[in-house]
Amino acid sequence: MAESPFKADIERVEKEYSEKMTVGATAMIPGSSVINKTGSWRVFIPDFNRDKCTRCFLCYIYCPEPAIYLDEEAYPVFDYDYCKGCGICANECPVNAIIMVRETK
Ligand code: SF4
Ligand code: SF4
Repeated sequence: MAESPFKADIERVEKEYSEKMTVGATAMIPGSSVINKTGSWRVFIPDFNRDKCTRCFLCYIYCPEPAIYLDEEAYPVFDYDYCKGCGICANECPVNAIIMVRETK
């Protein structure tokens, strides 16, 4: 593969940003984001009502982290270590089984 004509610029920006940005702000090493608990800076948190859930998986598909996995009965489970509280899951849920509430901890 040909070397990028912007290689020097890319290296300079990466060096600059890796020195200035806080841990978790950018993933400089592929796969390294697993050590950054991205749930630590959220303001809102999803509150899940299992009785309303139809197991359509939309929240699971749309969660950008992903911070939702499915249990043995295919109900969503929220991984609060990584949930950023973006609210996409609540927005996509067609039966309002997820509502966003203010984080209290
Ligand atoms: S609030 Fe955002 S990050 Fe958290 S589970 Fe829902 S979609 Fe994922
Ligand atoms: S989007 Fe709503 S109904 Fe669908 S799986 Fe998620 S919580 Fe359940």
